[in-house]
Amino acid sequence: MSEITLHELEKQYGETTAVEDVSVEIEDGELLCLLGPSGSGKSTTLRMIAGLETPTGGEISIDGDDVTDDPAYERTTSTVFQDWALFPHKTVRENVEFGLKMRGVPADEREQRAESMLERVQMTGYGEDDPTNLSGGQKQRVALARSLAVNPDVLLLDEPLSNLDKRLREDMQIELREIHEDLDETFVHVTHDQDEAFTLADRIGIMDQGELVQIGDPDEVYENPTNQFIESFLGDTNFVDARVTRTTGDAVYVDTELGTELVLPTDAEPAVDEGTALTLSLRPEILSIDQPSADGGTAADDTGEQLATDGSSRTAVTGTVENVIYRGSTVRYSADVDGTSMFAERTDASTGALSAGDRIRLEWNGADVLAFREDGTRVSL
Ligand code: ADP
Repeated sequence: MSEITLHELEKQYGETTAVEDVSVEIEDGELLCLLGPSGSGKSTTLRMIAGLETPTGGEISIDGDDVTDDPAYERTTSTVFQDWALFPHKTVRENVEFGLKMRGVPADEREQRAESMLERVQMTGYGEDDPTNLSGGQKQRVALARSLAVNPDVLLLDEPLSNLDKRLREDMQIELREIHEDLDETFVHVTHDQDEAFTLADRIGIMDQGELVQIGDPDEVYENPTNQFIESFLGDTNFVDARVTRTTGDAVYVDTELGTELVLPTDAEPAVDEGTALTLSLRPEILSIDQPSADGGTAADDTGEQLATDGSSRTAVTGTVENVIYRGSTVRYSADVDGTSMFAERTDASTGALSAGDRIRLEWNGADVLAFREDGTRVSL
């Protein structure tokens, strides 16, 4: 177990700023996922913690000791890479024992420790095998055992599962989580896969263009993204263009490209002026799907009705189903709402299935809508 502090960490490669002003305290025994698109600086950050890259600015300390200039072999970290990097001419056991041998651990103790690590990653009985004959998942288990064998204080994982197929990747995510719980060590795990981060992490640090743009519990970053990039990166959503028409003490009224005015309830005086352009985010899970009532009249009558009978600012629009996509446990409907494409999902495929061309009614609570300014910052409502 160890805590890691990154203070204003920076890495420049010539003109390229790979990592900029990253500060974070990684807690003892926590599993932190660094999540972001390709090229956002995750790997470089991890490699600096490992001592495989030298920062061009800032400091790294582990348990209070400044290790910024220490070489990798002097650190109490161990790294698992995406490409397994097993030695092909050594047996599985020799691979797992490698780090221990380098540290001068006697042969019988090495063997014992290697066996127990292989057992931990469910590879008992493979010790004498040639690693080149193993499957991708097995190779990655051996690589993990090798990294854990040296009993590191901090395990650094650089996209370790991204070469595995979906099913195996999901199994390994659960196993990694269990191993982390058993060992109680600090893990820093780099991934570009949102589902992986949500499955594994105690906290998620989101990276964008070299910066750590938000860090928090998984539900916190999902429900309270600080900017539009994070909102779009963390899952599919409907972005709807809007413009503020007026504000009151407890609501923002916006005209939208859905051809209707919407009400966004606010807790305090909202920090937006009349005329401000906004992008609204309506996640599929806040939208409930219905068929318009038989006497509902035309789309124009139905669209944008405010249903605030219970004070919760419920709003509905109607549209025409364009596509129905079965996605296993859910069905995704995309619909044309006054010329704008919206999508929503239902979990139960059997109830009242809609087909292309049918009228559809989408309803939501205005309080569940997020709003962003043109510069991507979130409007607090
Ligand atoms: P990620 O892990 O999020 O995909 P990286 O940390 O690998 O991102 O890369 C961040 C940026 O730094 C990218 O623009 C990448 O091209 C650049 N970069 C990374 N390593 C090097 C290097 N050794 N030399 C030059 N540029 C690099």
